[in-house]
Order: sequence, then structure tokens, then C-alpha cells
Amino acid sequence: MHDETRCVVPSPVSLDGFDSLTVPIYRASTIRYPDATAFASRFERDADSYVYGLYGTPTHRHLEFKISELHGGARTVLAPSGQAAITMTLLSILCHGDRILIPDATYGPVRDFAVNEARSLGIEAVFYDPMDLGALAGHLEHRTRLVWVESPGSITMEMQDMPRIAELAHNAGALLGCDNTWASPLNFRPLENGADIAVEALSKHFGGHSDILMGSVTVRDEELGRRLKAAFGRLGIGVSPDDCVLVLRGIETLAVRLARASSSALAIAEWLADHPLVDRVFYPPLPSDPGHAIWQRDFKGACGVFTFTVDSSVAGRIFAALDAFELLSIGASWGGTRSLIAPASVKSQRTAVPWTGADHLLRISLGMEHPDDIRADLERFFRALSAPDSSGGIAVGI
Ligand SMILES: *Cc1c(COP(=O)(O)O)cnc(C)c1O
Repeated sequence: MHDETRCVVPSPVSLDGFDSLTVPIYRASTIRYPDATAFASRFERDADSYVYGLYGTPTHRHLEFKISELHGGARTVLAPSGQAAITMTLLSILCHGDRILIPDATYGPVRDFAVNEARSLGIEAVFYDPMDLGALAGHLEHRTRLVWVESPGSITMEMQDMPRIAELAHNAGALLGCDNTWASPLNFRPLENGADIAVEALSKHFGGHSDILMGSVTVRDEELGRRLKAAFGRLGIGVSPDDCVLVLRGIETLAVRLARASSSALAIAEWLADHPLVDRVFYPPLPSDPGHAIWQRDFKGACGVFTFTVDSSVAGRIFAALDAFELLSIGASWGGTRSLIAPASVKSQRTAVPWTGADHLLRISLGMEHPDDIRADLERFFRALSAPDSSGGIAVGI
């Protein structure tokens, strides 16, 4: 053998006796076939076998199977972001002339997709009040192919009655899909509560360290799962095995991270609810939250993500006061080890039910820091919020 050839042919290395605790990273575009007949019939292979890198390696199968197990689903398909998991699912299921019902408090980019790409393809997106089952029922008709649910809703945290919505959707011949990112399957299993499709933004709790983007779609029905897998393949959607092992690593600590973040969040949310400068706290685990009864009935736990508003008399100082944080960072996404806070407004993002509450919301994602340190940082924020205006002027409400 010449050196040129030696350079490209792998050396014989034995795997005997190598029994690691970790899932190996199998990187591949090409997968070799033993003979021409096997190659020619490759697309007749079982949906979990190996055909081409885009359709997954053993590393991908480890993550897909793990998520299917956690959801009690038949099959999981991976996508390069949570947003892609949702939009590719919609594109795979909906046709020109179909209607989709989307909750008014859906994740913002999903609304944007619905009013731009989906509408331009002739798919009618109707936004509904997430708390009003009568309104939802009124939008169901023969063209309604899919009902989308996100519970709690983005930023304003409305809890939806999934078992009842499933009944309404199925009676109308529609599928039910759920964005389950806030709860994760450890705290809520959509497929066991009537949903046909459960999506997770794995970028959040599953990845857990603010360093990857990925999403998953898990379905109850094997036939629907195969349809989605085939459609995702045709759309060219795939993810890197390196990212899969990061998500698999995140899953190993998912339960303890969620427990830690939600116990901090409950303590901080209770403290905020009693704070004189706080107007309202949106967090379903609080008994005062309008979604508390559904959360208690359907969910096993929570996470560290919630929202609050401050008194309108100090609202004009929010942006300046956010600079006072030393521990919490200002940023989007959530579910990492480090706590985040971000200002949000929802008025322009609600079309079914006009938002009449304060529109200077603050969304928090608590991480793994000690809750005393998080509270001390929030106290810095409130001190800055209530400090006399350095310009000598009066704070103006927004
Ligand atoms: C972040 C998020 C998504 C999108 O996930 P990305 O991986 O960031 O694209 C979808 N739904 C919800 C509820 C989210 O919070």
C-alpha cells in the first residue's frame, strides 16, 4: 500500500474491552453498504436503520429514542432549532387551503411564521384565546387540520386545558400539537393528555447550558412519525451528532436542574408578589395565578421561567434599572445554568384578545445560582427603580 492510500484507509483498532458510560459521537455523511443490492434497496430499510448521514447516525438514534421514551411516544424527529421543529412540522402536515388554530400567546416567531410563510402558501392561520374553549370550538371546521397549543403561553403564561382541547380538536377531525418547552416531558406529557404531537425546544432545558440550538418533534402514532421523518428528510433538515451528545449530556441532569430552578423560582416569585413595587407575577405554581388549578391538575412540576410587571409609576425607569443587575444577564432564550432577565411587550403580539394589562413585562429565567444571590441582585434592580431620577425629572410611565 502506498502512503497516499495509507493516509485515507483507517487503521484496525479493536473496540473489545472498551465499554464507556458515554454515547459515542458517530459522524457520517456517507454510510457504506455491503453490496450493490443493499445500496439499491436502501430506502426500503427500516426507519431506524442507517441510510445517509442526514437521516441520522447511532448518536442521533440515542437522542431520538431517549426523547420518545420520556414522552411515551412512538417516534421522535430532530430539527436544528425549536423554531425549525415547529415550522417543519407545520409544513409537513398542512396543505394549501388548510386551517391551523394557534393560541394568541404563542411563541412570537411561530406567529411570525404563521402570518408570513404559512399564509403565503395558502394556509390559513387563525389565532384563538387560549383560555376560551368556546372561542376555540367556534374556529373549528372541516378545513381545520391542526390545533396548536402552548401551555403556559409565552410571556403571559396562560395555562390551557389540554384534555378538553384534545377532545374538541379530535371531534372536529383535527390533529393536536403542543409546544411543551416550558414543562419538558418530566413535568407534562402532552401525548398522554390527548396531543398527537409534542415539540420541545431542546435549546432550553434539555441542552441546559445556553450553548446549542436544537428541537424535537415526538408523535404518538408511528405512521405520522414516519411521514414527518420522510418530510424532514426531503426538506433537508438534520442536526449534528456533536450537538446530539451535548443534549444527551444535558438530559442526564435535567431533573435536578428543573427541580433547582423551580424551587428558586417559587421562592423568588412569592417574594416578588409581596414586593411593593411589583404589580403582578405570572407563574402558574403560585396559588394566585389564574392557571394554577390546571397546572396543579395536569403538571408534575415547573421550571425557572416566569414573568412579572412593576408598578406603572416606576415603569419608565425599567431600562435604566436593568443596568443594575450584576449576576443576572439580559438576554433571550432560557433554561441554562445562568439566570436571565429580559424586558418584553406583548400588545402588538396579541390579536385574538387585546392585551389590556401593563405592557412593560419582565421575563425571568432562573438558573443554578443560590436564590439568596438572585434576590440580592433583584434588590439592586428595585433600588435603581425607586431611586430618584438622576436628571431630577419625574419617571414617566410607559
Ligand atoms: C425558545 C422557544 C422556541 C424556539 O426554540 P429555538 O431552539 O430557540 O428555536 C419555541 N417555543 C418556545 C416556547 C420557546 O421558548
